[in-house]
Amino acid sequence: MTASAASDDSLDGHRKPHTGNGAAPYPVSGGPIVQLPTAFGDFVAQAWTDLVTGVEHLAVSSPTPPTDGKAPLVRLHSECLTGDVFGSYRCDCGEQLAYALELIHEHGGTLLYLRGQEGRGIGLANKIKAYALQEAGFDTVEANEQLGLPVDARCYKAAAQVLAEMGLHEVRLLSNNPDKQNRLAQAGVTVVEMVPTEVPSREQNIRYLRTKKERMEHRLLLDTAAGPVPVPAPDSPFRHEQD
Ligand SMILES: [Zn+2]
Repeated sequence: MTASAASDDSLDGHRKPHTGNGAAPYPVSGGPIVQLPTAFGDFVAQAWTDLVTGVEHLAVSSPTPPTDGKAPLVRLHSECLTGDVFGSYRCDCGEQLAYALELIHEHGGTLLYLRGQEGRGIGLANKIKAYALQEAGFDTVEANEQLGLPVDARCYKAAAQVLAEMGLHEVRLLSNNPDKQNRLAQAGVTVVEMVPTEVPSREQNIRYLRTKKERMEHRLLLDTAAGPVPVPAPDSPFRHEQD
């Protein structure tokens, strides 16, 4: 649906889209729902367009809602070309994406793939510039600051409105990032539970993950014994890379 005028917010008994602040809903437009068979199982998919920015997102859902009576699992996955498509070990995005799809397929829910959020919102080219600074010794927060860019430029208004229009008003959020929970709450989506998505850390991304834990308050255990950690050669050019 599209935005309705704020003056339309009358007490007529109809449920209004949640916006959290009484303002007109953020305008998004959903397309048809189609089948999406994947390596992780069968899903259904629906494209959503942010009518303010023109950015197109994709909702990938289990074909049936949760059968255990719990709120649906929801993952807001920020686009990460290097991690999601190329399986980069500089960050944990690709592995979190796969883990989330497995959980959603098994337990029911939706993964909202948010495009235009590359590098926590600074874009692909800037993310690669930040990688270069990280190779010079800065951490992921400092690198963005060196570039004069925000540490996290992501906006979740469109995501929250998509969830609301999909009827997902109460969700179990697949995330380690409490900030996402807060921002969704501001936009009118209630997170009834945070479900951790931590995947085993790696030599190549442990500093990046420590920075997320220590400087961005991500809920990470960083238990390196949780999985196989390949050890690069001492002269590997990838030793100091982080997202
Ligand atoms: Zn990533």
